[in-house]
Amino acid sequence: MPKTMCLVMETPLVVDLLPVRLGAPDLAVAVEKYPDRSKMNSYQKEQSDTLSMVHQRLVSLSSSERHELEGTIADYLSFRNDVDFFLSENFGNVCTQKCYKNRLSACCSREGIITFFADVVVNALASQKWEIESMLTALQISNNGFKCIYLGNYGCMWHVKPIVCEMFLCDQVKEDIFREKADTRQVWKELKRREKLYTWPDQPVLFDRLETYFLDSGYSSPLMYLHNSPGLLRVKKNG
Ligand code: SF4
Repeated sequence: MPKTMCLVMETPLVVDLLPVRLGAPDLAVAVEKYPDRSKMNSYQKEQSDTLSMVHQRLVSLSSSERHELEGTIADYLSFRNDVDFFLSENFGNVCTQKCYKNRLSACCSREGIITFFADVVVNALASQKWEIESMLTALQISNNGFKCIYLGNYGCMWHVKPIVCEMFLCDQVKEDIFREKADTRQVWKELKRREKLYTWPDQPVLFDRLETYFLDSGYSSPLMYLHNSPGLLRVKKNG
């Protein structure tokens, strides 16, 4: 699956992730401002519905409930910070030269990137109101299918991009860097191992817990793959 340099260059490090909280009335306004679904394909509707629903739930939380939820993702954000640092240190320049400056943006050229429900929750917890509004606006625009709907003029619109995007490096770049800097291969392997501790449900993982948290409150989404993908349910069962 191809992907662009924006994956490694445009998203800021995830230190300082937890934003000023939106008040419930603010969110209601933000969501109601984007009622036009006529140009949205099914992927966009699914994404938009999930993002709106997650936000509605988040703004309905008391500050202590929200604080508790933020606490459950703190370790994951620290992991994401480590990945961002590794990528920007080792891959930033080469991706800029080979892809971004040539306007290939190959990494983000797919229309419907896979996003997990937990990706949406983590991003929503970390985003400012204007970032959510930008995403909801982008999701309304008719997509010509040649690029990811979230690829804006300044790179990826996610504050904390989906894990599938974060952990993708194209083969050519990987080969170049792993050959040039011997220790990077091992570090990357270790980061891939750590990724599974949050996402792969052969053991209790954060991505599953976040889905359960919303399901228990009466919210559901087709993006809850750890509860509705036959393959992942099998992994869970055999874990
Ligand atoms: S969400 Fe889209 S724009 Fe963002 S990194 Fe992934 S593929 Fe690229």
